[in-house]
Amino acid sequence: MQALEKAPIRHDWTEEEVRELFQMPFMDLMFKAQTVHRQYHKPNQVQVSTLCSIKTGACPEDCKYCPQSARYNTDLETERLMKVKAVLKEAAEAKAKGATRFCMGAAWKSPRAKDMPYVLEMIRGVKEMGMEACMTLGTLESGQAQELADAGLDYYNHNLDTSPEFYGNIITTRTYQDRLDTLSNVREAGMKVCCGGIMGMGENERDRIGLLMTLANMADHPESVPMNMLVKVEGTPLENVDDLEPFDFIRTIAIARIMMPASAVRLSAGRTNMNEQMQAMCFMAGANSIFYGEKLLTTENPEADADMMLFRKLSINSEQNEDVSDEAHEQAILHNIQAEQDSKLFTDAAAS
Ligand code: SF4
Repeated sequence: MQALEKAPIRHDWTEEEVRELFQMPFMDLMFKAQTVHRQYHKPNQVQVSTLCSIKTGACPEDCKYCPQSARYNTDLETERLMKVKAVLKEAAEAKAKGATRFCMGAAWKSPRAKDMPYVLEMIRGVKEMGMEACMTLGTLESGQAQELADAGLDYYNHNLDTSPEFYGNIITTRTYQDRLDTLSNVREAGMKVCCGGIMGMGENERDRIGLLMTLANMADHPESVPMNMLVKVEGTPLENVDDLEPFDFIRTIAIARIMMPASAVRLSAGRTNMNEQMQAMCFMAGANSIFYGEKLLTTENPEADADMMLFRKLSINSEQNEDVSDEAHEQAILHNIQAEQDSKLFTDAAAS
């Protein structure tokens, strides 16, 4: 049988072509996405990252989905910039649980000069542990991007969220162009780009097409493409937006995989609202990266042990199993889950 030719990496997608993908019969689309996926990635492997909110809430921006914006009345407790030592302790725990990348997020418009030395120290500490480091700190000038890159930061996350046309309905405090400028500063500094969007904010198919075209027609595709399903948080302007049809989300993941064959497509916020079968379909569609742990910044993330159970049911092995045996990895996770439960029991007992 003649081998299938590898799908090319393209940067010239037209609206018509992407619309055709959106209109393809679902099964045909899934087959196409899985075929492309297998040409570029190990089919049963999912990369695992852990996310830590190093500064929470009181953000001056007005992203209408975000409980961290100071403009909305949510139950979120704000926290100042964490101490470097505390962040590195969490990083070490994440590593013990099997994470290969540690992502640190701060709810800032842009990092302030006085915070930079601490942020740089966090990056160096995570790198010394042998993990990849990723940060999301808001808008970056080129000098700031260079400082982060020089400290060893591997990835910078800055999402476009949606299409250029729909963007103004979601954020008014910074422009789409501001975001593109930050992404180009990150690239020029030599870091990898983590950039994706959120589905279910009331956008239509055309907006999903617009987002994917903006990402896939960049000179270099983002190495990591987080696909979020809106988590509706009480107190935010999007708390009552209509539910997203789950198949529309899976379809968008499949099309992201087809348009950006070599990128990691990350199943991000919203996993807590997906059952195991839906998550499995997202992996089938080409998602090959997840956040692992108890929290995804300020919204819930499925419990770590539930992730492990799902991986086991699907025979998915996370990347770190290449150098750690499955059994050792599993033992490390179980040990940590037990330790967390023990410490909760201890605190509950102490409080009673
Ligand atoms: S998404 Fe980021 S920039 Fe927007 S309000 Fe939330 S923390 Fe601020």
